[in-house]
Amino acid sequence: MENLRLSPLISEDEIRNRVVKLGATITDKFKGKDVVVVGVLKGSFMFFADLIRAIDTDLSCDFVGVSSYSGTQSSGEVKINLDLSRSIKGRHVVLVEDIVDTGLTMNYLRRHLENHKPQALLTASLLLKPDALKEKCEVDLVGFKIPNDFVVGYGLDYQGYFRNLPYIAQVSNIN
Ligand code: 5GP
Repeated sequence: MENLRLSPLISEDEIRNRVVKLGATITDKFKGKDVVVVGVLKGSFMFFADLIRAIDTDLSCDFVGVSSYSGTQSSGEVKINLDLSRSIKGRHVVLVEDIVDTGLTMNYLRRHLENHKPQALLTASLLLKPDALKEKCEVDLVGFKIPNDFVVGYGLDYQGYFRNLPYIAQVSNIN
């Protein structure tokens, strides 16, 4: 993409090490339970794929799709465009997000999943921007706290691009 500068923020190694620890924590909490890991599309797909391989117990996978962003700004309105494919009632659920920014999406999805009466719900986000939160948002497992800048890579996009970067980078406009 033209006129954009990418500044590396979190390296592949740092991500790998942290994801292994998050997976071990989930294993400790949910080993032997009926676990379903729910990824939030599209941004979490890479984190999701690495995280489930770091969880050492039987599990099944499901996905939800939401939209709330255009460009680098949240519209503030969360819409579900893909919903759970199977019931999560009575199951141990891990909700996997790429990033918590304003907190609206995570809070919305937590309420949505809780309405389906899981036995337990654990929320995980690779990234959290504490200075961007617009409402109280408690996330059980956070990979990295980052500054309030727009980031791409490792599944996160800017206008559909950069998801394939294996690391996280800050994006700035050099115009
Ligand atoms: P929230 O509802 O917390 O404001 O936003 C959550 C969603 O916004 C994330 O799932 C992600 O899709 C998108 N988002 C928030 N901040 C960023 C960012 O810095 N980079 C990218 N690529 N997406 C972001």
